Amino acid sequence: MSDGGKGDSPRPFSVPLKKFDANWDAIFGKKKPADDFKLDCHRCFEENDVMVDRMILCPTCGNKRCPKASDHRLDCTNSNDPGQPGSVYK
Ligand SMILES: [Zn+2]
Ligand SMILES: [Zn+2]
Repeated sequence: MSDGGKGDSPRPFSVPLKKFDANWDAIFGKKKPADDFKLDCHRCFEENDVMVDRMILCPTCGNKRCPKASDHRLDCTNSNDPGQPGSVYK
């Protein structure tokens, strides 16, 4: 072992603490009230711990059984058929 002991010297703390805080907020976002989120699908409700208290329709086609209404990352199928893959409606 000849390379031990390197890498544990402290990094110079050049960033003022206040700026560090601002960066933290920019990276992780401040916690906002649920109403500030754009909850457009069942998955968004779930991820933000918000009760689904309304019918969620696909923002593209307006069908509740469209997979995009369950997860906006999924493609809109422009269909209201039951049992579509990805949809919360069976
Ligand atoms: Zn969403
Ligand atoms: Zn759709």
